[in-house]
Amino acid sequence: MEVSFDRILMDGISDMVFVMRVKNDTEFVYDFVNRVAMDSTGMTQDDLGKTIHEVRPPAHANLLYQNYYQVITTRKTVTFEDYFVTSTGEKQYTESTLTPLFDACENCEQIVSLTKNITKEKQAEFEKNQAWNKLNASRKKYKSLFHYNSDAIISLDINGHITNGNIAVETVTGYAPKELNGLTLNQFVPTKDLDKIETLFMNALVGNTEDSQLIFLHKTGKKINILLKVTPLVIDGQVIGIYAIIRDVSNFVTSQKRLEESEERFRIIAEYAHDLISLINDEGDIIYASPSYKKILGFDNKEYEGNSFLYNIHPDDIDLVREKVNLSIEDRHPFIVQFKQFTYNNTYIWSQSHGAPVFDDQNNFKHLVIITRDISLQKEYESKLKHFANHDPLTNLPNRRLFKSRLCDALDDVKQDNKDGIALIMMDIDHFKKINDTLGHDIGDSVIEDFGARISQSIRETDTVARLGGDEFVVLLPHIHSKENVVSIVEKIQKSLQHSWDIHEHKLEVTTSMGVVMASKQGTTSFSILKNADIALYEAKNDGRNTYKIRELT
Ligand code: GH3
Ligand code: MG
Repeated sequence: MEVSFDRILMDGISDMVFVMRVKNDTEFVYDFVNRVAMDSTGMTQDDLGKTIHEVRPPAHANLLYQNYYQVITTRKTVTFEDYFVTSTGEKQYTESTLTPLFDACENCEQIVSLTKNITKEKQAEFEKNQAWNKLNASRKKYKSLFHYNSDAIISLDINGHITNGNIAVETVTGYAPKELNGLTLNQFVPTKDLDKIETLFMNALVGNTEDSQLIFLHKTGKKINILLKVTPLVIDGQVIGIYAIIRDVSNFVTSQKRLEESEERFRIIAEYAHDLISLINDEGDIIYASPSYKKILGFDNKEYEGNSFLYNIHPDDIDLVREKVNLSIEDRHPFIVQFKQFTYNNTYIWSQSHGAPVFDDQNNFKHLVIITRDISLQKEYESKLKHFANHDPLTNLPNRRLFKSRLCDALDDVKQDNKDGIALIMMDIDHFKKINDTLGHDIGDSVIEDFGARISQSIRETDTVARLGGDEFVVLLPHIHSKENVVSIVEKIQKSLQHSWDIHEHKLEVTTSMGVVMASKQGTTSFSILKNADIALYEAKNDGRNTYKIRELT
């Protein structure tokens, strides 16, 4: 009755209870197993009276046996941890306390095992360990981040006294962290920057992180540009210290300064230059046009920006400019090009551009710098020079050089076109010396001028009259079909000279002798034509002057 009450009691408790009977101090058989133990281990009433090895799987039975045996040998309570897997596959951890029960002769008769399920405690411990490991890892990471950071990191207390520093402190400031302990950052910055430090610290103390650029006096005495970032060290919502992160930005500041200076230089040059300065990007768009565009062309320089580099260029020159610019970018060589560009009042000016492609550090095309100059005056001089080189200054008629070139062109045409021939009339004023001698050289000049003008009026637009020198003129008649054709022109010239000559109130008579050559044969040279013309002229002079002789080279 008493036993069964005990057993009812034991069935009622939530821990597992096993009562083992000890046999010959070497064997343990199950005497009692409570309800919880049966439910947990799957044992049944049938297992009572069986040994541990008969009931439990071998590995587990060995563990249990060793502990029970230890109770026998030590005669003391033994506690051990164990686990079992439930019917649903969950692992459950247990802690068992084995207590020996002695009979009157002090023999260990029974051992009671009180087995607690400690799975929850185990789990909690496991989680605690995991959290601890994580914390440890992040502590190590933090330490590494602090120590090996390339920026100098200094920790300070809330009064601004330095308490520690990482390895980079020495690299950046020249001081070993230990040398700085107990000092303040104020001792290392010039007076003008003290306010900046104060502001950074005040902000950090209320939880804000800010940075500022200032000067730091390096251990060597050199002033270095630093970026100082001050950040609060907050634990449980309270600022308990401050971190100062120092980065040496001297190189950055120097190159920034250089860049600003060179940009400023470029701006001044571009703003005040009389030349047109423009930058073209890799798309061929104008990204900058100097204010001189307004002065020289009359259009607002901003109007050019965003437009193609061919903007406002005369249609005649667009292909040339496009080709030069594209080739320059392709070959990475500077270029020079002359072209016409429009001005505000719809005229154009002659311009000359010098362009140079600019490449970045990686050798990629960056932009094209183009400097353009107004060369209208130069072009005007050039064309005047060309005119002087080819014209006679007194009559403004083509001179011997231009005449010869036209003669060659006409002979080329004869070669191309069998049908037409050419004719050449060589003229020499009769007794011109007498005019000079009696009336003076100036009157002589006027006669030469008037003579040239009369001849010019007697011929077709496609003909050329030239002054070969002195009182000698020549007319080139391309596209001549017949002798009559030539004779009619010769007579027309003679007639033009018959009109009265009033030169500075002097009434004169002016006649000319003419040597005419007709050539329609391919292969006729300018030399033979001129030679034959000279001969014909000589014959005309010999024939009494004021007449003409014709030679036909057929
Ligand atoms: P001819 O009938 O044989 O042609 O006799 P000419 O007097 O006309 O003699 P010629 O043609 O041989 O001489 C031409 C003269 O023209 C010689 C030179 O003094 C003169 N003369 C040459 N150039 C100029 C010039 O630019 N101006 C003036 N006024 N006289 C010139
Ligand atoms: Mg003469």
